[in-house]
Amino acid sequence: MNAPANILEQQLIYPFGERLPAPAERIEVAPDIFWVRMPLPFALDHINLWLVRDEFAGRDGWTLIDTGASTRDTRALWERIFAGQLDGLPIVRVLCTHTHPDHIGLADWIGQRFRAPLWMSLGEYSTGRTWSIRDERSVEMNLAHFQRHGVQDGPLLDGVRERSDRPFTSLVPSMPGSFRRIIEGETIEIGRRGDKHGWRPIFGYGHSPEHVALYDEGRHLLFSGDMVLPRISTNVSVFEMEPEANPVAWYMDSLRRYEDCAPDTLAFPAHGRPFRNVHRRVAQLIEHHEDRLAVVLEACRLRPMHAAETVPVMFQRTFDAQQSTFAIGETLAHLHALWYQGLVRRELGADGVIRFSATAAPR
Ligand SMILES: [Zn+2]
Repeated sequence: MNAPANILEQQLIYPFGERLPAPAERIEVAPDIFWVRMPLPFALDHINLWLVRDEFAGRDGWTLIDTGASTRDTRALWERIFAGQLDGLPIVRVLCTHTHPDHIGLADWIGQRFRAPLWMSLGEYSTGRTWSIRDERSVEMNLAHFQRHGVQDGPLLDGVRERSDRPFTSLVPSMPGSFRRIIEGETIEIGRRGDKHGWRPIFGYGHSPEHVALYDEGRHLLFSGDMVLPRISTNVSVFEMEPEANPVAWYMDSLRRYEDCAPDTLAFPAHGRPFRNVHRRVAQLIEHHEDRLAVVLEACRLRPMHAAETVPVMFQRTFDAQQSTFAIGETLAHLHALWYQGLVRRELGADGVIRFSATAAPR
């Protein structure tokens, strides 16, 4: 969530410079691979989607990587793309990196329209199906989660209450009823007949249940989804459904899988611009989390800390209400990483709040 200093960004190479696709237009970023950008109704105001020329199940057309959230704006832009940017061909397959609404929002709408199957990991698909069932307990559970981690502030809790009601279904009105599971170790062939390229799924954890990035070993191209973003660091949070999760450790371990990519890899991220120097970016992200872990541990040495009061230690900036809940989730994720390393204790106080304090021996 931190915007690192400009100096970090200068270590990356942006082969397309400041160029961005105009609304409902596409930019070719590699042979037969096109970049499309859609608006998002959040502080993070856009998502990148990728169209790859393909021949799949006997049909000529496009494989689409991620779909955008289901908003009126995005659907209208898609209509213009269907009409003018697909060379008269259908979308023959939808592949979603993960089940966050900006990625899967329109998978069912597009899939039904073109009879295009959804390809996804089991962890992501099942989680999406789970989130699309309304659970009466989820609002109360989410409130209890934030209270347990020190949130007493009325307006902030009101915001949590409001957003926990329909956080997923408002942007994902329906999920495809079936999917084709992406398996670790397989190679996914994408391309026109006679010009197929093999993409290796890279599974990743910590940001979402079972994120799939795709790497083309022959051409050194990477659809990095949300796992490796050039400018912002990916949100890594503990949520109420999995209250003892250790996502920072999972995310950092997953990042190391990108060290196998060739040094000149061209990455197509879900947010920001296509970039080179994935290795440098991975090192920056690992350094960022190590640095935050050290700062949070230092705070827990002074006195027992709950997650909400640790937020200003983690982040030197202010947030809107939605960002605040992400910031608490991410701070808690760092506290948990220290807890799993044995560097802090996690204790539930008589007041019902969980606090973290440094263990006696810092090793
Ligand atoms: Zn995401």
